[in-house]
Amino acid sequence: MPWFSRSKDNISPDSQKKEIPDGLWEKCPGCGEIIYKTQLESNLWTCLKCDHHFRIGSEEYINILLDKGSFKEMHRKMRSPDPLKFIDTKKYKDRLSNTVKALGLYEAVRVGTGKINGIDIAFGCMDFQFIGGSMGSVVGEKIARVTDKAFKSKIPLVIISESGGARMMEGAFSLMQMAKTSSKLARLADAGIPYISVVTDPTTGGTTASYAMLGDINIAEPNALIGFAGPRVIKQTIGKDLPEGFQKSEFLLEKGFIDLICPRKNLKETICNLIELMT
Ligand SMILES: [Zn+2]
Repeated sequence: MPWFSRSKDNISPDSQKKEIPDGLWEKCPGCGEIIYKTQLESNLWTCLKCDHHFRIGSEEYINILLDKGSFKEMHRKMRSPDPLKFIDTKKYKDRLSNTVKALGLYEAVRVGTGKINGIDIAFGCMDFQFIGGSMGSVVGEKIARVTDKAFKSKIPLVIISESGGARMMEGAFSLMQMAKTSSKLARLADAGIPYISVVTDPTTGGTTASYAMLGDINIAEPNALIGFAGPRVIKQTIGKDLPEGFQKSEFLLEKGFIDLICPRKNLKETICNLIELMT
């Protein structure tokens, strides 16, 4: 028999803990604010308090940038043949299949055509969720093909990058994609067809060293990490402290590596204006 007992009548319904279903709220990594997901979505996945740009995928960028229902995806189900039969903690082949199943995406980039305020464009957008947005043979091939599409149809090309760099599991095959995509873009430039590159958080390694930095105009989202090697590796190599804001959009703009920083809410209008200016 307990010494103290509490009558249930004394507890008002309000004092009872309310159950919040999982996945309705998101914590801002910038300021710690807890934001209702619907509200975050209507604000294009940017924090209402500190303007932190949340990392989003191809589906969200297609909705934000392209006219509704205009995106026609190309080479959707192209898959890597696993040329090295690579195994780390698990088989690369299994890693790929599991990722495809979990995300409903077939690779780390989606390409196709669409319209931006009525203007036809060739469009590619990466997904960081897919093995760190790494650039393997399929990513390179798809980028090359969408560049060909822009070349043949004489329409501007827009690519959104978010990538950890080359895909280790495909070794040298990944590295070859840098030359392939760069040469396709050079042909597009020779034909005088505009290419706008949008770099988002994070864009590093082989992606930065090829198509992400080869735009006629390179646009970055605010406060995005953009670089080749990561800051920690560079710091260890040179044995010196790195300057404040190193490898962030604002730092790169100041040093002339990118042409402009554009908040997500202005991205569609900015790309559209630039295309009109260049064509
Ligand atoms: Zn915030």
